[in-house]
Amino acid sequence: MTTVATRDLIAPHGGRLVDRTGDRPDGVESLEVVTLASREVSDLDMIASGALSPLTGFMGREDYASVVDDMHLSRGLPWALPVCLAVDSAPRGDIVALADGSGRALATLEVEEVFDYDREREATRCFRTTDTDHPGVARLFEQKPLYLAGRVTVFERPQPTFPELALDPAETRAAFAERGWRRVVGFQTRNPIHRAHEYLTKTALETVDGLLIHPLVGDTKSDDVPAATRVECYKVLVDSYYPVDRVLVASFPAAMRYAGPREAVWHAICRKNYGCSHFIVGRDHAGVGSYYGTYDAQLIFDEFEPHELDIEPMFFEHSFWCKTCGSMASAKTCPHPSEEHVFLSGTKVRELLANGELPPVEFSRPEVAEVLIEAYRTA
Ligand SMILES: [Zn+2]
Repeated sequence: MTTVATRDLIAPHGGRLVDRTGDRPDGVESLEVVTLASREVSDLDMIASGALSPLTGFMGREDYASVVDDMHLSRGLPWALPVCLAVDSAPRGDIVALADGSGRALATLEVEEVFDYDREREATRCFRTTDTDHPGVARLFEQKPLYLAGRVTVFERPQPTFPELALDPAETRAAFAERGWRRVVGFQTRNPIHRAHEYLTKTALETVDGLLIHPLVGDTKSDDVPAATRVECYKVLVDSYYPVDRVLVASFPAAMRYAGPREAVWHAICRKNYGCSHFIVGRDHAGVGSYYGTYDAQLIFDEFEPHELDIEPMFFEHSFWCKTCGSMASAKTCPHPSEEHVFLSGTKVRELLANGELPPVEFSRPEVAEVLIEAYRTA
């Protein structure tokens, strides 16, 4: 493969990769401190790295209202979810320090405005429910009552949980260019990859130059598989079953919002900033419980004009091993009855793994299952 220039890759959202990193200014210690929740720390770091380009800070009222109502920033660019900083009260000065939960200063924010917001409306529009059993809605209803907006300058990046996987958008773009990839498909995951996901990532890879396996490593619900275990699964899977020059595994530092369809669009836009031209959207992407219809996260892409997002979503069905086809397949490609399909419920898989038993090889690669069994054993 020949090297391509990073300019040959898809352009970042809004045309330019934002960089809001900077030097620690003098006198930070004397600034009023705003303490960020862990999701806000993830958002801050993603603003710094350009993963949320064109955002240069936490959203103001106009962008917020436009995103909540219409999934576009006020100047017309598509954007699916609010990226806001919740505070108790308006700061006194026009610049504040942003700190993480331990009190460590990470950034400064130039105060542009402080505004109140309607939680019910944000929940209804963004999460399609006001049910506080929904983890995203619960967080929204618990958070502070005002939004603080303004441009940020980040001088202290959070320590990545997996330093070897921590690549900023500029770095994934450079890696793609170096490998000669122009067309790259991104795969979002917060679960170990079983045969079904291996199949759809490889099916997508057949049509493009490279695959970015981009596991989310920010906050998730406590019952999701721990990130360290998932990362180990990706390593053994990629080492054994993917060509090394066609796949890159890197971490996606976002926290889960569980906003289903809107989060699918938001995830796609972020991956465009990382240099992906295509993005895999399976059934119930970023969903939780039964709040979203099976295909909602795919149908929402129709609400945008063709090519408005630029990054191309690739929609996939659930897939399975079919004994008669003798291959992985989906309802789209296999005519055989479900008795022919190797299907295991999540509960059944967990039961097998917890008992130290390997699921069928048609369902899980043994290398991956071994990692999961070991994780259960030591849990
Ligand atoms: Zn079949």
